[in-house]
Amino acid sequence: MSMNDLETNLQEAVVLLKASKKTTAFTGAGISVESGIPPFRGKGGIWNKYDPELFTISYFLDNPKESWELLKKIFFELSDIKPTYNAAHRVLAKMEERGLLDSIITQNIDNLHFEAGNRIVHEFHGNGKQLVCLNCGKIYRREEIDISVLPPKCDKCGGLLKPDFIFFGEGIPQKAYIASEKAAKTSDVFLVIGTTGEVMPACQIPIMAKYYRAKIIEVNTEPSSFTNTITDIYLKGKATEIMEKLEATMFN
Ligand code: NAD
Repeated sequence: MSMNDLETNLQEAVVLLKASKKTTAFTGAGISVESGIPPFRGKGGIWNKYDPELFTISYFLDNPKESWELLKKIFFELSDIKPTYNAAHRVLAKMEERGLLDSIITQNIDNLHFEAGNRIVHEFHGNGKQLVCLNCGKIYRREEIDISVLPPKCDKCGGLLKPDFIFFGEGIPQKAYIASEKAAKTSDVFLVIGTTGEVMPACQIPIMAKYYRAKIIEVNTEPSSFTNTITDIYLKGKATEIMEKLEATMFN
């Protein structure tokens, strides 16, 4: 694609976004790559290093200590990087503030959309900065819990604590699922950023949106499974660069 194509596509995307009565953003790991959080698939991704079986809910329940040792290594020590939101998250927050974005559906568990200032974020896979008690449902912030003794237990009832993101074999959090389905059925525009479109059932949400006549604008460095199927306007490039270009045109 030549730069001119990108320019034309950007202009067309802004026309759609400005005319839209309801826009929903749908984000995946790609939006956080420039915050230093690697995606799971592809080169260097964790699915090439670890057996996904280790991230099933049944493995966690049968082997909480071993499971926690791995979780601590991958998710908690990694969090020492302390990723911060990037320009793509920032532009989405500005769009919400200016009435150009209704909500975000995110597959990410990194909390960065909230940190950037978005208020309505449906976390399809939960939130990795929280822990949940599997017995009483109490939610803890990660910093509140001492993970030097594993597995961590609930202060209130002694139940087993689990990171509040979903493991293989668990359902999608119901509130997020219902809100996402509603957004898919009622949005004029879906702005899909940084996702392969291969993770089930999340990938069905943009497909449903298209079926209910939303226009699909897609931002990705690589074509995804949406690009040649449901995408109306493909903006090829890094999430930060494309979102900053959209911002410049949208708010000029
Ligand atoms: P994914 O579907 O989220 O795919 C990542 C996509 O990002 C790919 O299509 C890739 O081309 C694109 N991409 C990479 N760099 C980009 C950039 N700078 N700008 C725009 N797009 C870019 O798949 P996954 O990584 O296998 O993730 C699997 C699941 O795990 C997803 O639900 C994902 O959200 C979640 N996950 C979350 C985080 C996080 O919370 N930050 C990190 C890794 C994975």
